Amino acid sequence: MKVIKLHNNITSTDKEHLISVIQQKSGSQVIELTNNLLRFDDVDNKIVFSNIKSVVIIINNVPEYSLASREIKKSDTYINIGDILIGGKKPIIIAGPCSVENYEQMNITAGELSKMGIRFLRGGAYKPRTSPYSFQGLEGKGLELLFKMKEKYGLKIVTEVMSSDKIDEVADVADILQIGSRNMFNYPLLKALGKLQKPVLLKRGMAAKMKEFLLSAEYILKGGNVNVILCERGIKTFETATRNTLDLNVVPHIKQLSHLPIIVDPSHGTGVKALIAPMSAAAMAAGANGLEIEVHYKPQIALSDRKQSLTLNEFKELLKSINFKK
Ligand code: PEP
Ligand code: MN
Repeated sequence: MKVIKLHNNITSTDKEHLISVIQQKSGSQVIELTNNLLRFDDVDNKIVFSNIKSVVIIINNVPEYSLASREIKKSDTYINIGDILIGGKKPIIIAGPCSVENYEQMNITAGELSKMGIRFLRGGAYKPRTSPYSFQGLEGKGLELLFKMKEKYGLKIVTEVMSSDKIDEVADVADILQIGSRNMFNYPLLKALGKLQKPVLLKRGMAAKMKEFLLSAEYILKGGNVNVILCERGIKTFETATRNTLDLNVVPHIKQLSHLPIIVDPSHGTGVKALIAPMSAAAMAAGANGLEIEVHYKPQIALSDRKQSLTLNEFKELLKSINFKK
């Protein structure tokens, strides 16, 4: 793909004219990515843009995931949530239970996590469970509990939205909307998220290639929401010793291909408690901008992802092992 940037004061008549000329000569559809940024195919380099004075920049070989690519935006994307910067030098840590279950669970967890210096509390109210017989989440009541924790401890909330019709309800409470692995390919949902400005944590589909992952991010960016955080959470492989295979290749690779921040979820990525701390350290070494980790005050009674949930003490040890600073 080729992308050209037009002069800011180009008139709309000149722009329309230029678009129709490109369309005719290249035989390709011209798409305006953002204001005055045109994207099209010009395989045989039929058009000489250096002669057209309304064209200020020409970028060749732009990937299909244009807006997510380093070709279009060289500098890293930073996302501000209150006083917290995502994508900068300091990693963000999102911690909390897989599911929101009750007040006591959330109150103890949120209180302890905030003492440890954690700023982001996770917890699913709408849960995408493999079996329809498994706990499906407290839904609206779960969101209310998350809101209480936000008010009481000043924590930022990360929680999943599974369908477009629930976006407003979830976005009222969430500081970051999580899109789960199972919904990475849900294009109507991604399009709807593109219309917001609320940050989105896009988890990699469990069988999604890197390119597909970036194209899903592109859906959100194309809609106008530039606040996308990627999350590697493990992929399905032939290996059954662990729940998933945490593909840390994507961290440095995506850093090369894209300007978007990327964090890692070693809880779902391994499914094995003993592997979460070492893989957290590995993710940081690979250049991740943060981690998302499941922590439960009593894992033995957790209603979902019991086996991979760390106790509060185990989580405290993990923070030490990665040299986390408040
Ligand atoms: C979760 O974070 O609890 C979750 C369901 O994750 P994933 O979508 O990665 O399976
Ligand atoms: Mn989970």
